[in-house]
Amino acid sequence: MNTEQNQAGDWRSYLRQVTPYVPGEQPTEQNIIKLNTNENPYPPSPAVEKALKAMDPAKLRLYPDPTCGILTKGLAEYHGVGTDQVFVGVGSDDVLAMAFMTFFHSDRPIFFPDITYSFYPVWAELFRVPYETQAVDENFRLQSEDYHKENGGVIFPNPNAPTGLVEPLSFIEDILTHNRDVIVVVDEAYIDFGGVSALALLERYENLLVVRTYSKSRSMAGIRIGYAVGNAELIRAMQDVKYSFNSYTMNQAALELGAAALSDEAYFRAVTDKIAVTRDAAVKRLTEQGFYCLDSAANFIFAKHPKYEGEKLFTYLRQHGIYVRHFNGSRISQYLRITVGLDEEMERLYETLERAYGSL
Ligand code: PMP
Repeated sequence: MNTEQNQAGDWRSYLRQVTPYVPGEQPTEQNIIKLNTNENPYPPSPAVEKALKAMDPAKLRLYPDPTCGILTKGLAEYHGVGTDQVFVGVGSDDVLAMAFMTFFHSDRPIFFPDITYSFYPVWAELFRVPYETQAVDENFRLQSEDYHKENGGVIFPNPNAPTGLVEPLSFIEDILTHNRDVIVVVDEAYIDFGGVSALALLERYENLLVVRTYSKSRSMAGIRIGYAVGNAELIRAMQDVKYSFNSYTMNQAALELGAAALSDEAYFRAVTDKIAVTRDAAVKRLTEQGFYCLDSAANFIFAKHPKYEGEKLFTYLRQHGIYVRHFNGSRISQYLRITVGLDEEMERLYETLERAYGSL
């Protein structure tokens, strides 16, 4: 290229143009009831607090272990798999991005549902992976036959987001049996709140990757830990991509605290059970107020009120210090996605909604 002939400002035409994923708001004001990003309302396990206090700051002088040994080993033991079957990353977003980079290379489109985690199309665009969405039915359920057609890979969350609907193992197995020649990624960000994990299928399907996160059920969204479990060959391929990108993805604190969290199964069970109880009570209360709630297996509820616009309810709640999530997409713009909070936060939500009905 003859640089002398370039016009001033030409560099702009070389900028990468992408439409980014839009995360939920993280308000800085105090006293907000934050039910908008599916965080856990309870603190992490006391074992995490203990490990945090015991952390030696001198360790921060060194790079962290690039193999993420203590965390990988802890997770392998926790799930009863080999250490070579676990890949850890900076939240499951990082793990999913690595999975896109590692596994989705076909000229054929990858498949995911039309109503699902809105990061999937963003990664597909970023990594130039062709994709085709498969429409969920009128009840927002995935149709397994849609995934029988030829494709370049399959990814979906189970439970799905933002609907919270969970599919049984037989559904996942049906997709796996029809997709032996591509990688099938099951994003289990919310599985600890309901449903059966696809981890049970790993031994039989070498093309299955299960992705998990500490952000929801382990109350550790702020430390950023996600992981994938799959057969050793898949994990090795992901490691190769990771080491071609950034060797030190996980910081020292994440490694130590992530490992510590695994030691306290009783706390983990108590918190996830409690959230499921609050969720089921919330569905009842919202239904009594006239809401239609999808049957959630997650730590959030996807609900619409036949009489009030989703966006108006969202704005009213926001003005009254309660943040929930509202998506403008077709078929879902009437809905609110409400994260399950503390019981007292949920009470404030019901009261505020009652007042909204009087003024909207
Ligand atoms: N998958 C799904 C379905 C999600 O809703 C989220 C949360 N935004 C993630 C993955 C990513 O979560 P994290 O990066 O915090 O692990």
